[in-house]
Amino acid sequence: MALITETQLRTQLVKGLPNPFPVKEEDKLTPAAADFLKDRGIAVMRCTSSADTLILPVNHMTERKLIPVGVSNRHVHLSPEHINALFGSGYTLTPLRELSQKGQFAARETLTLLGPKGILQHVRILGPPRGVSQVEISRTDGYALGVHPPVRLSGDVQGTPGITLIGVSGAVVLQEGLILAKNHVHMSPADAQALEVTQGDRLIVQTLGERRLLFADTIVRVSEQFSLDFHIDVDEANAAFLNTGDQVQLIGRNGTITSAERG
Ligand SMILES: [Zn+2]
Repeated sequence: MALITETQLRTQLVKGLPNPFPVKEEDKLTPAAADFLKDRGIAVMRCTSSADTLILPVNHMTERKLIPVGVSNRHVHLSPEHINALFGSGYTLTPLRELSQKGQFAARETLTLLGPKGILQHVRILGPPRGVSQVEISRTDGYALGVHPPVRLSGDVQGTPGITLIGVSGAVVLQEGLILAKNHVHMSPADAQALEVTQGDRLIVQTLGERRLLFADTIVRVSEQFSLDFHIDVDEANAAFLNTGDQVQLIGRNGTITSAERG
């Protein structure tokens, strides 16, 4: 008899766990290990030791490709000129905490967004400064502000609506730069190789929690600087019952599903 522990499962999770997870009749899961599987929506399949490999369908034996989730709340990227205008000449942002992507940080500073129908206060600024200011909100935020920006990849702001930014030392009226961020996956070249995808691919990912959804058009962004992370906004996270640190499964790309979780 073997005892299967949570620690063993955690180690195996990096490479992917099959669902259902096969456990031989004579083996035991610790209570923590059973919870670990349950929390991830992975079923336990009891099997006799003589036939254990035979009764598992082939597609369940293949490795699951899992990607961690990062949920982005509304935030602002500012150009150096706009930092000066909003916080005072020569002002430098103060890092509050590091983000999952190298060199990126959430700043201590926040500002207020003013739209035609309302305001949103305490909106986090992310650093370091960028060439062009950009504001990323959720569709729900858009209703509060009274403005309805399109879904765009970061940096693609041409023709998007503007918004007014209010800081402690002044205000800036942006003529454009308000977007709903298009969901995307950051990854290193090594991650891209392991997942068998390339820059610009449109991934199909499946959520594994209480409400199973597919994100069918998730753009791959590859850089040496990037860590593997599936970035979605708060509306997307809430719709799919996802939190930062959860995992989603890569099940296909560029319009074709190659594997999926059932049940
Ligand atoms: Zn991102």
